[in-house]
Amino acid sequence: MDLTSFPRVKLGHLPTPLEHLPRLSEALGGPEIWIKRDDCTGLSTGGNKTRKLEFLMAEAIEQGAEMVLTQGAVQSNHARQTAAAAAKLGFKCHLLLENRTGSEESLYLDNGNVLLDTLHGATYEHRPADLDMHQELLDAAAKFEAEGVKTYVIPGGGSNPTGALGYVNCGIELMGQINDTGLQFDHLIHATGSQGTQAGLVAGFKLVSSPIPILGIGVRAPKDKQEAAVFALTQKTLELFPNAPEVKREDVVANCNYVGEGYGIPSEGGLEAIRMCAELEGLLFDPVYSAKGMAGMIDLIRKGEFKKGERIVFVHTGGSVALFGYQNYFA
Ligand SMILES: *Cc1c(COP(=O)(O)O)cnc(C)c1O
Repeated sequence: MDLTSFPRVKLGHLPTPLEHLPRLSEALGGPEIWIKRDDCTGLSTGGNKTRKLEFLMAEAIEQGAEMVLTQGAVQSNHARQTAAAAAKLGFKCHLLLENRTGSEESLYLDNGNVLLDTLHGATYEHRPADLDMHQELLDAAAKFEAEGVKTYVIPGGGSNPTGALGYVNCGIELMGQINDTGLQFDHLIHATGSQGTQAGLVAGFKLVSSPIPILGIGVRAPKDKQEAAVFALTQKTLELFPNAPEVKREDVVANCNYVGEGYGIPSEGGLEAIRMCAELEGLLFDPVYSAKGMAGMIDLIRKGEFKKGERIVFVHTGGSVALFGYQNYFA
């Protein structure tokens, strides 16, 4: 399986390491836990959007764009990685940042990812919660186009079939590491939000005939909505491949019991996961995504759903820069 027919620009430090977490595994007394270090993709502190941007930015170059626009929450890791990719490749970058949590904290509004957006030379505008953010994004792009700027619009999270190719690539890469190490995994677990990561992984595993079940831990939408959206994007992503195998609805599984009070609002389990991983493994997780994913995994191990004798790979999607926007939760 190769992706060489798709335009791509190298942005990430790939392949990312696959590492054993012996102290966390021992503390939980359940399965052997491994981690795929997609927090180490390299671009402006890394994270999962870098893989997607390799394919999206290549499309922007092909279309002769001068400016890329995207949208996300205020502490969007996607916005920050897009700003960095744009800087590296010589694009202007404009961001729409939605205040989904309604926070008025200056740490949240100006530090963490927002600080890095600014350092990368991106411009941004705020939006209140609950607007149709994709329409806002199209409207913003239309304004720049009217001024004669050629724009390329990246949807929130970089989650369209082109962006999902980044996680098809991750699925292929992981299968290569499994072959090299001889490790068998019983489950793959990761945080799922705008769906591109899970859709890409499910599509990638289909294309390499991996039987490893994938579990997305939701950070925003309820289960039915999340699974339906991931499934639709998986189908569209597989359409990019001639003669691709079919994805079944039951191949897409999300557990959305760990959202807590809402998107971007730290949960007790997430804060515990941040402390455990930092103290036991020297790893940093973020309260919005990866820690809620980790909290789901920890809880399911404690409930006995994943057992001793099994082996799990958790895909670390990054986000630790957001910790600086949430400092007051750790006082
Ligand atoms: C965006 C993001 C996710 C979710 O990935 P999607 O492709 O949007 O589902 C998970 N973790 C982090 C740190 C992210 O920034």
